[in-house]
Amino acid sequence: MDGIVIIGAGECGTRAAFALREAGYSGSVTLVGAEPHLPYERPPLSKPGDGAVQMKPICAAEALAAAGIDYLPGVSASKLDADAGTVTLGDGRALRYEKLLLAIGARPRRLTCPGADHALDFRTYADAKMVFSHAEAGRRVAIIGGGLIGMELAAVLRGKGIAVSIVEAAPKPLGRAVPERFAAKLHARHMDEGVHFHFGQGVAEITDNAVVLADGSDVPADVVVAAIGVLPDIALAEAAGLATGNGVLADSFLRTSAPDIFAAGDCAAVAQLGGGHVRYESWRNARTQAETAARNMAGAAETFAAIPWFWSDQYDLGLQVAGLPQPAHQRVVRSAAAGELEFYLDDGRLVAAAGLGFGNSLAKEIKLAEMLIAAGVSPDPVALADPGLNLKTLLKSPRAA
Ligand code: FAD
Ligand code: NAP
Repeated sequence: MDGIVIIGAGECGTRAAFALREAGYSGSVTLVGAEPHLPYERPPLSKPGDGAVQMKPICAAEALAAAGIDYLPGVSASKLDADAGTVTLGDGRALRYEKLLLAIGARPRRLTCPGADHALDFRTYADAKMVFSHAEAGRRVAIIGGGLIGMELAAVLRGKGIAVSIVEAAPKPLGRAVPERFAAKLHARHMDEGVHFHFGQGVAEITDNAVVLADGSDVPADVVVAAIGVLPDIALAEAAGLATGNGVLADSFLRTSAPDIFAAGDCAAVAQLGGGHVRYESWRNARTQAETAARNMAGAAETFAAIPWFWSDQYDLGLQVAGLPQPAHQRVVRSAAAGELEFYLDDGRLVAAAGLGFGNSLAKEIKLAEMLIAAGVSPDPVALADPGLNLKTLLKSPRAA
């Protein structure tokens, strides 16, 4: 038996390896990772508590060994032959597989302007170490991109007393995934903390000491970080003839167009019930897709269905978003002891919820909101807005039933 090979030892690949064992799979499991370290968590890279980069392993070497997972670090898969059922590694080894999981994640989008090479990426532990070793007190940091990385990194750097500017092409920050109400609150907090924003402009050039904007103005900078989003890593799949789009295309069982090859995590664009494919870029999605893909590789036939969820920490504020809030949804605001919640109703039905508050203070409410979304409740908006109403009671309501 050739066993299961997992390409990519990030959150998704590593979780899938353990989930295979939890599903009772007893064949060989090989986890191939391009990075040289033990598998590690990315979220702490942009939220270092004391301003120093943390390497938080996902698992210990002993745990991999105990689960019988053959971990091959520091080596990339360079060629996939879907017909022969083999994958060739950068060091020349060829592995045969019975089933293969592509969990190859995403890579930072690169700037193309003159001087783009001056801009540092922020995706890996090595990137984070590089950024924090350059960003010292007294230096000026310009971050291109006011998305999740740009804003989280700005908060950490301000905490270290470093001057930070954010250059964002859109008219406001956090426009992609964060509900407008909370994006505005986070923006205001960053302004209070002294972050300088430059909106609505692209970057014309990066020089040794400045970012030159499209209108010719300069943003002085000793260190420049590019945080302008990521692109799914599809080259390997494309070369193997697999169907790709905005990611490696997968059906609702997380199977690609090649029999025996699955895809999950940041690299996978997964078929939706209503048509089309969606690719999520979040930690929990990487884990839940890993678990579904692992069970299916082990013989189950489960469709992937999970409510999207992500969090972000900026200063002492914690944001959580469950579901996919859309501008067309009816919005219900509810104040909470240490922050605020917003609920999103589609034709009366609760489909998403978000909260911004001190630290992790709204976690319980968001967890309950996730349960309400899953139960398909259509709550009374007035009751929902009342901070005195215990959300748990809605779970027991006849409508939830
Ligand atoms: P990745 O983590 O990208 O892992 C893929 C791995 O595959 C990489 O190690 C790569 O080197 C390897 N690889 C690629 N090609 C090959 C190959 N050919 N051969 C072998 N190996 C290969 N999400 C949240 O929900 N909340 C957060 O607070 C949060 N914070 C984040 C902070 C940072 C700084 C970053 C970068 C991301 C953050 N995310 C957060 C997003 C989350 O970390 C990702 O969605 C998640 O890591 C995706 O996991 P993945 O395994 O699919 O991909
Ligand atoms: P992101 O959240 O997609 O944000 C990128 C931002 O850069 C967007 O606002 C984008 O605007 C802007 N932009 C794009 N091109 C630009 C240009 N040339 N000049 C100026 N601005 C430009 O991506 P990210 O912050 O780089 O994060 C990368 C990945 O890490 C994502 O997958 C993200 O989800 C993940 N991550 C998640 C968390 C979390 O969930 N808490 C934290 C950190 C990172 P447009 O949208 O208008 O293109």
